[in-house]
Amino acid sequence: MAKSAEEENQQKAFGWAATDNSGILSPFNFSRRENGDDDVTLKILYCGVCHSDLHTLRNDWGFSFYPVVPGHEISGVVTKVGKNVTKFNIGDRVGVGVLVGSCKTCECCEQDLENYCPRIIFTYNSYNPDGTKNYGGYSDMIVVDQRYVLRFPDNLPLDAGAPLLCAGITVYSPMKYYGMTEAGKHLGVSGLGGLGHVAVKIGKAFGLKVTAISSSPQKESEAINRLGADSFLVSNDPEKMKSAIGTMDYIIDTVSAVHPLLPLLSLLKVNGKLVTVGLPNKPLELPVFPLVMGRKLIGGSDVGGMKETQEMLDFCAKHNITADIELIRIEEINTAMERLAKSDVRYRFVIDVANSLSQ
Ligand SMILES: [Zn+2]
Ligand SMILES: [Zn+2]
Repeated sequence: MAKSAEEENQQKAFGWAATDNSGILSPFNFSRRENGDDDVTLKILYCGVCHSDLHTLRNDWGFSFYPVVPGHEISGVVTKVGKNVTKFNIGDRVGVGVLVGSCKTCECCEQDLENYCPRIIFTYNSYNPDGTKNYGGYSDMIVVDQRYVLRFPDNLPLDAGAPLLCAGITVYSPMKYYGMTEAGKHLGVSGLGGLGHVAVKIGKAFGLKVTAISSSPQKESEAINRLGADSFLVSNDPEKMKSAIGTMDYIIDTVSAVHPLLPLLSLLKVNGKLVTVGLPNKPLELPVFPLVMGRKLIGGSDVGGMKETQEMLDFCAKHNITADIELIRIEEINTAMERLAKSDVRYRFVIDVANSLSQ
């Protein structure tokens, strides 16, 4: 039977999708666009499992478009390049993070801040201007405009490096933008999950003194011995929190549950900066008194632009920073999601896509 023009312009793809807000993932056949002149096609080898994947699968934010193939910490090798592609060759080790498109002409795009473009196209659970839908990295291949493809430095592993594409840039970008990189200063990292554990490592690489702040006292020894934190603070121990008041220059708050800001603001010195990168689903209370009295600052930040994401990958490669991962097969993904919902992961699941995804 003759193929329609539309079918001829498509590549077959296979992944795992959720079809409703149960969030349960199962095998799913779909198609991706043919590789265009500016496009790079990747064979996906690994994909990190981000907390946003879980939120989207379960429609926690109310804007999931099923079926959803999640995944925006994608690494792999280039299998096709379009004729305008100058940055990549077939066989290159590459990655794709949280975004696969933007308008390219707005003030944000012109400043390499594609991540703040009002017409940003997220890697999955999003639509392109032509109405086609985007599916993420829990799949065998993806087609992406070269502008949104990252180069993996030679010594950066594709499995443990993949989570840097979301978790890494989410903490690296605010540290750079808000000036939280002065060697010798004291950084608090609140929340020791996927984002927090990378923040500890990046903070150490900038020469900061790093204190991990967590509600789980059992994480103390691994925060110090495995992740390299200088000290550990149990956030629900009033005595310990009191003794740390006014000791920190910067805090990165990765906690996405609703939580009070006052204890964290109290930890800051005068002129201290608190940057929040978690996304609680309800507003947090803002204590203005300590902000005013101590000339403190609260800011937010969302991933990073393409140029800065490349800079972050290069920085991590130079300092041998990767995520601590549990490599899983795709068949284990639903169990992994249950565990992620309970924060039972050290510290990021990564799907071994190439070795487990087959029809
Ligand atoms: Zn993410
Ligand atoms: Zn733009």
